[in-house]
Amino acid sequence: MDNIIYLDNNATTPVAPEVRDAMMPFLDRLYGNPSSIHTFGGQVKAHVDEARRRVAHLLGCHPTEIIFTSCGTESDNTAIMSALDCCPDRRHLITTRVEHPAVKNLCQALAQGGRHQPLYRVTQIPVDAQGLLDVAAFEDALDEDTAIVSVMWANNETGVLLPVEAVGALCRERGILFHTDAVQAVGKIPMNVSELPIDMLSLSGHKLHAPKGIGALYVRRGTRFSPHIIGGHQESNRRGGTESVPLIVAFGKAAELANQNLHKENTEVAALRDRLENALLDSAPDASVNGSREQRLPNTTNISFEYVEGEAILLMLDQHGICASSGSACTTGSLEPSHVLRAMGVPFTAAHGSIRFSLSIYNTQEEIDKVVEVLPPIIRRLREISPFGHDKAPAKSNA
Ligand code: PLP
Repeated sequence: MDNIIYLDNNATTPVAPEVRDAMMPFLDRLYGNPSSIHTFGGQVKAHVDEARRRVAHLLGCHPTEIIFTSCGTESDNTAIMSALDCCPDRRHLITTRVEHPAVKNLCQALAQGGRHQPLYRVTQIPVDAQGLLDVAAFEDALDEDTAIVSVMWANNETGVLLPVEAVGALCRERGILFHTDAVQAVGKIPMNVSELPIDMLSLSGHKLHAPKGIGALYVRRGTRFSPHIIGGHQESNRRGGTESVPLIVAFGKAAELANQNLHKENTEVAALRDRLENALLDSAPDASVNGSREQRLPNTTNISFEYVEGEAILLMLDQHGICASSGSACTTGSLEPSHVLRAMGVPFTAAHGSIRFSLSIYNTQEEIDKVVEVLPPIIRRLREISPFGHDKAPAKSNA
């Protein structure tokens, strides 16, 4: 599809041309196995090492603290399962109500005795109406049985930032392992993990202009660790499986570019996001932003257009080649508002009409202006035919 306006970068990002160029030789002439003894293998290994250095530089850690994985989900699963393996006498996990399924569904499986593990107790810390974490509730939940705390750095639906530094400090005081799912945060906000009380951190290549199928887990030096994928000696015995060299090299290049573009992300991308958000709030009545507008990623806005279905908005935007996401998903034939918006207490009529726009450095002002031109008439048309029609609608409970 040509000429699309792609505002769904929290779902995945386009591969940067520089990244594609960097990985191509490894699909072609540089096909050696980095574990091989011969010079050809060693040549390839040098590129894997360079990619590891680049990813480490983006996070502010040492290259030996980076383990390449297949995706963010594998990184999240590895961190949590490793902590449980390393703390066999502890049966309690703490997480939040707004995690991505990569953490949420694993914790649910562990609470139900899945994965042939003993039963675990899982505490999900609530968030407030702004999507911000209740740190006092978090502190109350910590106990001597807690094996790991996993709190995401940035929420994928709202972009809201969670207080990982404060949470990590409380964990460190009590000797509890702390993991953060930073899949949405890495490359969008500056970070220096070596200065933060974080033991493990997950990231994923396809959220920062590398291809799908490559991720990484940061494991602070000295952290107890048990591999999730057991096999050969790759990744210093921490993750078996022959390395996907083209994807690792791509990830390294993408990390280098993300570092270079961090300022742009926090100035130009944030300005485009604000332009979009302010124009839509001004032109569409009964529109409101979900989540804190201050503590948020620079590229994300989640807006509720009350009394219309988000899915219907998406379909009509799609006819104009505009790609975004909705905050409700069709499960078993009914539209279920997302668990994130429900955790924030967003009312039914607003949650159903929520749309997430997530931008990248490749978006332009012309694209944003096109969305601002196209969307308000769509909302007006949908409201006219809505069963919750504006004038028939119940009063807003969080106006
Ligand atoms: N965690 C968060 C916050 C995400 O947004 C995503 C992907 O959307 C993941 C984890 C999973 O990453 P991957 O798609 O690389 O498995």
